[in-house]
Amino acid sequence: MSYLQAIDPAPAALRAVPELTIVVPCHNEEAALPPLFRRLEALNDDLLGQGQLTRPLRLLLVDDGSNDRTWELIERARTTLPVQGLRLARNRGHQTALLAGLMQAQTEVVVSMDADLQDDPAAIAEMLGAYRRGAEIVFGVRDRRDSDTWFKRRSARAYYALLDRLGVDLLQDHADFRLMSRKALSALAAYGEGNLFLRGLVRDLGFQSEIVLYDRAARSEGESKYSLGKMLSLGIEGLTSFSVKPLRMIVLAGMLVAGLAFGFGLWSFVEWTMGRTTPGWASIVLPLSLLGGMHLIALGVIGEYVGKIYHETKRRPRYIIDEIASHDGATRAAPPLKSMAR
Ligand code: UDP
Ligand code: MG
Repeated sequence: MSYLQAIDPAPAALRAVPELTIVVPCHNEEAALPPLFRRLEALNDDLLGQGQLTRPLRLLLVDDGSNDRTWELIERARTTLPVQGLRLARNRGHQTALLAGLMQAQTEVVVSMDADLQDDPAAIAEMLGAYRRGAEIVFGVRDRRDSDTWFKRRSARAYYALLDRLGVDLLQDHADFRLMSRKALSALAAYGEGNLFLRGLVRDLGFQSEIVLYDRAARSEGESKYSLGKMLSLGIEGLTSFSVKPLRMIVLAGMLVAGLAFGFGLWSFVEWTMGRTTPGWASIVLPLSLLGGMHLIALGVIGEYVGKIYHETKRRPRYIIDEIASHDGATRAAPPLKSMAR
């Protein structure tokens, strides 16, 4: 038998129909929950009808410190779907609430989405298809942003461009609407960091992934729970959790200033040879700019070490195993990683 024949030419079979949990973080979403239940019940019927699910989807609702009737609605959910509620002791923010839900879910496949139906549940059918073809992670990417305000659209564009320049790997227009398999979730559990920017962490995992496009709808009920302050802090989280380039820029700035000081020095020497000196200028400006530049360089050097400490304290997994191939040719899934979720 030739080497080529030894490789199985048959296309990989589809994976079995998985069980699905939908995780929804909720902060003061009493108005959004009833329409959410109705929409997901309809989705459940569709998925069961199309054979994309064999058992009803489960709903895992995380109450992120709401001070309205959200928890009451979760406890007495008027829906035919199996519901599990998780109530955080206080408001911890969207990302942390979402992680809590993801770590709590028990099924093979988990989809995370917002409570306000901005993420189109119809895309979940496509996500399940992508999973069955072998994807461990399926990213929901919004096709258009018409439903967002002008400010949100512009600020998001500028932000993605900035992060791209700083070398952060992000998928443009993907927020937290995504499917993850058990394998991807157990890898995520190995990330020990407390500052969460999930869309960046999930990109960091690797694994086979696919993208599903969807139209982002307007919020179903209530108002955005992301205040400008929360949005800013999420943005800063994304930047500072994934890039140390801002620290490097200090060194660059220092070199620039020191270079300028050198230029000033040359210039005032030339002026002096031509007898055009301003008394006191060189003796003030030169040491000032030279020292300024050196200070910045020194800060940048310290920054390099701070950057190292910052990476070390995260205790991120150094690598993640996707599959293990053994000598008998069988491939096995990687053993689940120990959870470090805090
Ligand atoms: N959310 C949360 N904790 C918070 C803020 C928001 O769990 O502190 C939830 C919120 O209930 C919703 C999701 O995160 O399900 C996204 O929030 P929202 O739709 O208000 O954000 P936007 O779509 O306006 O960016
Ligand atoms: Mg929303």
